[in-house]
Amino acid sequence: MGNEIYFDNSATTRISEEALKTYLSVARSEYGNPSSLHGMGKDAEGVLKDARQSIARTIGDTAGGTVLFTSGGTEANNLALLGRAHAKPRFKGKTILTSAGEHASVKMPLAALADQGFRIVEIPTVGGRLDPEAIVKLATPDVILASVMLVNNETGALYDVPAVAAALRRSCPDAILHVDATQAYMKVPFSVKTLGCGLLTLSSHKIEGPKGTGALWVDPGVIRNRGLSPILFGGGQEAGLRSGTEDPPSCAAFAKAASIGFSALSERVARLTELRQRLLSGLSGDPRLSGVRANLPPTFAPHIVSLTLPRIKSETMLHALSARGVYVSSGSACSSHGKHGTSALSAFGLPDSDADATIRVSFSHRNTPEQVDLFCEALAEEISRLARF
Ligand code: PMP
Repeated sequence: MGNEIYFDNSATTRISEEALKTYLSVARSEYGNPSSLHGMGKDAEGVLKDARQSIARTIGDTAGGTVLFTSGGTEANNLALLGRAHAKPRFKGKTILTSAGEHASVKMPLAALADQGFRIVEIPTVGGRLDPEAIVKLATPDVILASVMLVNNETGALYDVPAVAAALRRSCPDAILHVDATQAYMKVPFSVKTLGCGLLTLSSHKIEGPKGTGALWVDPGVIRNRGLSPILFGGGQEAGLRSGTEDPPSCAAFAKAASIGFSALSERVARLTELRQRLLSGLSGDPRLSGVRANLPPTFAPHIVSLTLPRIKSETMLHALSARGVYVSSGSACSSHGKHGTSALSAFGLPDSDADATIRVSFSHRNTPEQVDLFCEALAEEISRLARF
C-alpha cells in the first residue's frame, strides 16, 4: 500500500479492516465444524445463522428466503442456472432467457445447457438498455428461467430488471428470475422484492469482504417447489443445495462488510457519483483528452466508467498506467458475438475495434477526487506519449 491509484474495484476490493478483524476473531474462536453436534459445532453454526440473517437484511428479504453460502459469485451463478435447469420435477419448457453481455459465469453455464438441449435466447441491449419490446416478445410460456444481471460489469449499465420480472409474471408460469447482483451490491439500492426475483447472486470480495465467498439467495417458493437442484453433492450442507463444510470466518466477514456497506449505502453512492462526475468533467475539460469517449448508459451504477481511447489498445494503456502505479482494467478483449454469447461491450454497441481500445475505470468509496485528477493527468500524458508511436 502506498501512493497507488487503484481504480479496479470492480475486479476486486481490498478487504476492510472490520471484515478482516471479524475473520480473524471467528477463525480463532469459533473453529468448530458447523455440522458437528457438540457445542463448538453449534457455535460455528450460530455464526453462519447470524451471517445469513445480516445478508438477508441487506437485500430486503422479509419473506424468509434462504441465503446459501458459496465460493463466490461464479459458483452462485452456476448453481442458479444449472440447478434450476436440472430441478426436479422437470419443467416442460426448455427456454432460458438472458441478457446480451452477461458475465462469463452466466454465459458459460448457459452454453453448457445449450449443449444439453436447452434453448438460450438473448434479450438484446442497445446503448446499455434492455430492449423493452424484446422483453415482452421473448417472454413466452415455455421459459423456465431468465438470468439478467442488475449492473453490467464492463459498462456500469443498470438494467430494468423489474420489467423482466413483470413480463415473466404475465406470460411464463414456470419461470424463475435469477439476478446476478454482483456489481450492484452496495453500489445501487435494491431489494429482492423490488426486483421480483427468485434467485439472487452476491459476491463478497467486490464489497470489501474476503475473496472466495459469495451467496445465492433463494426465494422460499423456489425451495418449497423444489425448483432448484444441487450441483455439488456430499454432506448435504446449506439446505442440501451446496455440500461442503462451510467457512464461518469468511461468511461472518462477508456479512460484516455487507452490514457496514448497507448502513453507509447512501453516503457511498454520493461519493461514487461525485468521483464519476469529476472524471467526466476532467475528460471534457482537457483538450489532450478530447479523443477519449465515455460509453455512458442511460441508467447506471456510479462506480464504473467505460472509456474508449483514440486508437490505443486497452492493454497497452493498462500497462503504461500500471507502470505509473495507476490500476484500471481493459474492457473484455474477447469480444464479439461468439459461440458463448455476446460480449458486454459489443452488447453495448461497440464495434470490436473500439472494444479493443476500451478501458474500465471502477471506483471505491475510498477513492478521492484528487486521485481522479491524477488519473486524468496520467491518462492525458500517456495518450500524448503513445500517440507518437
Ligand atoms: N458476475 C459479475 C457481474 C462479476 O463482475 C463477477 C466478478 N468479476 C462475477 C459474477 C463472479 O464473481 P466471483 O469473482 O465472486 O466468482
